[in-house]
Amino acid sequence: MATDAYCRGQNVYRFCELIDPANPSYDPRYRDTIKRESKAWPKKAPESYPNIFKQAANLAEAAGRLVSAWWQGKPIGRSADEIARILMICAGCEHYDHAQNRCKKCGCFSKFKSRLQTEHCPLPEPKW
Ligand code: SF4
Repeated sequence: MATDAYCRGQNVYRFCELIDPANPSYDPRYRDTIKRESKAWPKKAPESYPNIFKQAANLAEAAGRLVSAWWQGKPIGRSADEIARILMICAGCEHYDHAQNRCKKCGCFSKFKSRLQTEHCPLPEPKW
């Protein structure tokens, strides 16, 4: 993906591919056109974390699931391989905040959340 300023943060990846030298569709002739036209493109709002109340509710629900599983004698922890697999998925996810090692969808720290069998990816179609 091109990292030109006028591509970054824009919801115009198809066009940005055209000025990415690493992309098979690369054509430098598009550069001036995209630079000119991009001024009118809508800015994609940066993704933010859920508000603090939602994060607190998420944490309380996670604690409830954990206690419930423990109470029922179900296994709680994941294997090291499974944790590594999950962390790889999160690291490649568009919702992952690499600076804070957190998921922007739920606000959880993936390092901790991935360890619990009671927790899953919060997307409608979970990635793990
Ligand atoms: S938990 Fe799901 S949405 Fe969040 S960073 Fe990981 S894969 Fe992405």
